Amino acid sequence: MRRTLLLTAGLMACLPAFAQYPEKPVTIVVPFTAGGPTDKVARDLAEAMRKPMNATLIIENVGGVGGTLGANKVAKAAPDGYTLLLHHIGMATAPSLYRTLPFKTLEDFEYLGMVNEVPMTLISRPTMPAANYAELAKWLEANKGKVNLANAGVGSASHLCGLLFQQAVKSDMTTVPYKGTAPAMNDLLGGQVDIMCDQTTNTTSQIEAGKVKAFAVMSSKRLTSGPLAKLPTADESGLKGFNLTIWHALYAPKGTPKAVLDKVNTALRAALKDADFQKRQEALGAVIVTDARVGPAEHKKFVEAEINKLGPVIKAAGVYAD
Ligand code: ASP
Repeated sequence: MRRTLLLTAGLMACLPAFAQYPEKPVTIVVPFTAGGPTDKVARDLAEAMRKPMNATLIIENVGGVGGTLGANKVAKAAPDGYTLLLHHIGMATAPSLYRTLPFKTLEDFEYLGMVNEVPMTLISRPTMPAANYAELAKWLEANKGKVNLANAGVGSASHLCGLLFQQAVKSDMTTVPYKGTAPAMNDLLGGQVDIMCDQTTNTTSQIEAGKVKAFAVMSSKRLTSGPLAKLPTADESGLKGFNLTIWHALYAPKGTPKAVLDKVNTALRAALKDADFQKRQEALGAVIVTDARVGPAEHKKFVEAEINKLGPVIKAAGVYAD
């Protein structure tokens, strides 16, 4: 008995560190409030990754400063695989939007892989006196200087979309920042703010229930199925060439062991093939990524390309935050 125990202990000592990973619950930090679109993607993904990871995945919402607070928390976390980050296009906008960032986007993270791509929709408070985009455009013109545009802070997807929208309609609006678009949506429903851009993962149910007005999908193509398929694109509505798609991806702190990264990536790939996850994503207008960007190297290349593509657009808008 004693000999067996000693042998087992000896064998364990020979195993490479982290071979047993995960041995306790894994936390996924969402850099926005609970109940919003990024949070919804994270919770569905965590559910689908639970079996392939053979671990409990806990969501921790660290909202604020356009997603940079949560990202920074993960950049500084122990690189042991027990703290991961589910972020979005904000990874690629923050380096151009902030004069100083407390982390380096391309150096302080291990890139795990991409999850999905999600269109945004332009929506308004239910009492907006406009039935389509042409009427909304007239109302915006007539109310110049008085329009409140909600977003999830500088660097968020709703911020970027709102920025591009203001440029397109040549109008400055008062932006009202929240820690995520879940609380922004509450204020939109209540009429405290006028308009907002947000991912379909958050807006589909509210549009379907008639609780907000929807004017356009902000990507180049209409949704191919589901309740928002009849919604025109921004381009069709008169915002020529407007095309913005949000993506979500997983990250770990720099220095996380390769064995751990491989395990999480394998679980991510399994989750993306999970039928329930696929069904749920499709219903919310999200398209699961199936190409090489599901892997670390291609995803990192993609983020670099996004930084290079979005940087000049943000520069042209002349928006910076400290
Ligand atoms: N949709 C938000 C954004 O604008 C974030 C969120 O609450 O998930 O980035």
